[in-house]
Amino acid sequence: MNDCVFCKIINNELPANKIYEDEKIIAFLDIDPINKGHALLVPKQHYSSTLETPDQVVCNLAIMAKKIAKAIMRATGAHACNIGINNGKESGQVVFHTHWHIMPRFENDGYELWKGKDTTYVDGEAAQVAAKIKNNL
Ligand code: 5GP
Ligand code: ZN
Repeated sequence: MNDCVFCKIINNELPANKIYEDEKIIAFLDIDPINKGHALLVPKQHYSSTLETPDQVVCNLAIMAKKIAKAIMRATGAHACNIGINNGKESGQVVFHTHWHIMPRFENDGYELWKGKDTTYVDGEAAQVAAKIKNNL
């Protein structure tokens, strides 16, 4: 993937503040962090999003996400973190190489997740939506 910024970081064609690297996975600080210590966990193989990433690679990411999240929290003094994954343009994904955000969170740090419009179901709609999702598994 010639024009992929994360492939370039993986191939050492672009600099990054790396915090972890093994054969399959790399983690480095986000260039535009929500808080200091905000890192990205990235498989070395290029897949366009987590949903397109093989199960075993996702398992490896999950295992490392726990480990790195704890290290980020210890290093920054955070007592909480968000692990975030955007899948697709409408979700906010801008780099189309699988990556998980690991973001240390602090009391009163100014972020409020899911703030926006209220969504409610009309009578019976939630059951219909749940059934439809079940049928698509
Ligand atoms: P997305 O919105 O696709 O989930 O997040 C992409 C993230 O990659 C953003 O938070 C952005 O700041 C980060 N990013 C984009 N380009 C670079 C880069 O060249 N280096 C680093 N370290 N992070 C980047
Ligand atoms: Zn890539």
